[in-house]
Amino acid sequence: MKKRINPPKFSKGRFRRVKVIYDRENCIGAGSCAVVAPQFWKMKPDGKANLLNSKINKKTGNYELELEVDEEMLAILKDSEDACPVRVIKVIEIK
Ligand code: SF4
Repeated sequence: MKKRINPPKFSKGRFRRVKVIYDRENCIGAGSCAVVAPQFWKMKPDGKANLLNSKINKKTGNYELELEVDEEMLAILKDSEDACPVRVIKVIEIK
């Protein structure tokens, strides 16, 4: 896994609101997300990952999860984004 050169900067005790967007249809079941971030991802019997506690966006068909994270949790989420070989995981900061 590539090393993070510019880790996200946080003031002490600060949280950030992020949205995780997951295109489950195009998941190839590599399982890397569930290895690096098992608190967010779980492999299912159909061979694809589930983004835990997410809801489907009926317009896009993607699964989405909004949450507030500290620096450590954001790094874990970003690791799962980076680990996905088909780039079906997006982690974006929202206001
Ligand atoms: S790493 Fe990507 S392709 Fe692999 S299981 Fe997770 S979401 Fe699916």
